[in-house]
Amino acid sequence: MQQAVAATTGASWAGGPIVNGVASKGEQTVVNPASGEPVGHTADTDAAQIDQAFTAAADSQRAWNRLGGNARADILDKVADLYEQHLNELVAIICREAGRTLNDGISEVREAVDFCRYYANGARKHFSEPTLLPGPTGESNELSLCGRGVFVCISPWNFPLAIFTGQVVAALAAGNGVLAKPAEQTPCIAHRAVQLMHEAGVPEKILHLITGTGAAVGKPLLDDPRVAGVAFTGSTETAKHINMQLAAKDGPIVPLIAETGGQNVMIVDSTALPEQVVDDVIQSAFLSAGQRCSALRILCVQDVIADNLLSMLKGACDELTLGDPSKLDTDIGPVIDEKALGLLETHRARMQQEAKPLFAFDEAKRPQRGTFFGPQVVEIENFDLLKREVFGPFLHVVRFKAEELEDVIRRINATGYGLTFGLHSRIEGRAGAIFKRVDAGNCYVNRDMVGAVVGVNPFGGMGLSGTGPKAGGPHYLFRFANEKTKT
Ligand code: ADP
Repeated sequence: MQQAVAATTGASWAGGPIVNGVASKGEQTVVNPASGEPVGHTADTDAAQIDQAFTAAADSQRAWNRLGGNARADILDKVADLYEQHLNELVAIICREAGRTLNDGISEVREAVDFCRYYANGARKHFSEPTLLPGPTGESNELSLCGRGVFVCISPWNFPLAIFTGQVVAALAAGNGVLAKPAEQTPCIAHRAVQLMHEAGVPEKILHLITGTGAAVGKPLLDDPRVAGVAFTGSTETAKHINMQLAAKDGPIVPLIAETGGQNVMIVDSTALPEQVVDDVIQSAFLSAGQRCSALRILCVQDVIADNLLSMLKGACDELTLGDPSKLDTDIGPVIDEKALGLLETHRARMQQEAKPLFAFDEAKRPQRGTFFGPQVVEIENFDLLKREVFGPFLHVVRFKAEELEDVIRRINATGYGLTFGLHSRIEGRAGAIFKRVDAGNCYVNRDMVGAVVGVNPFGGMGLSGTGPKAGGPHYLFRFANEKTKT
């Protein structure tokens, strides 16, 4: 696999729009964040192409819906098969275009495959036959699910294949046409995914790839009266902006399914196992260069174990390697682009004034080229210093006394976010009691905060972290559907 990725140096992948099966050539360069080298090309989709895509998807959506859940599921299973057959190629694009490590790239393709198979099964189960509901004798009552129309799916760069695929496949499984807009940083992996979806049998008129920045394509994409729903993953600010735009546009009232950021906290009390905590903190805070919505941002440690734990944590941070994400021994690859790097450097400068440094990555070990940011750990007095999500390998530590536990929980809820939460404690009953009081979509006990296995731990938050329902969960497909009864 490492050789497969290395062999793609100098590759130039297509990353322009695909409308009605026709791929346009792009004149903008897509770069590898680890080296700054070009890896592909893309283009902003123009308003005429977006209009054509809406027309084709709206015209053919009823036929796609009538095809039924079983037939759509067979096509989506074929998408999963094709992803598996093209594993090396997909991992190579993810690593080069998004700077993800090899391990991250492989897990990501697996997650995308899982989404295809899980939603295919959902289509078979819920979208093929009506559900019979009880009614008066002699009367038959049926409840059916059908696609809403044309869905717009807007995805981020941090899981450029898995999130993109999860949204698109869910919308397709439920019987919708789709205009899919990937992040501008990662159009090539989305382009390849759409090619494979078409090859699997998703009609070219049903699924279109709309590339470009939010500023370039957001308005024509979201103002169109044919939008029947939006699935979005990205920042809380963009989700709010889209919500307002949808409320103001002509046409039907449409749902927004949003998965946004987090201000994720782990509580470690005096009964925790320090070795395990250190491993789990490293994974939770620094895996994928901290560029996961679920990543640990604030570690709350009970004061009596704090000195010992933090000294062990510093030792573990010292072992982390920063560098070429296509090498198997790299722990942390680059952050996505100059803008992300700038935000992290600004935060570090602020923390140098306002926080106590605990670990700073040795700058001499930072690669000369590429947008790399080494892991950092600082100690802060309380949460108030962190108003917004800091998206990168930056961990903030807060000490608390045993009698302050309630206050810590109150502060977690007061952030307004509610995505992931971790607890390390061996006090019987504590996990259950805290779980009930913390507002977080995904809670992890005595383990790391990484991992949302499709169908096992469905992923998604509440409050500023999103609307639900959870991706990869049993209720997700329903939000993409209309319900009809026949009596
Ligand atoms: P991030 O900070 O993670 O890049 P964003 O919310 O900016 O998060 O981006 C997530 C996705 O939303 C990307 O595909 C981006 O292009 C898209 N996006 C950003 N602004 C808009 C907008 N105004 N309208 C539609 N899509 C947008």
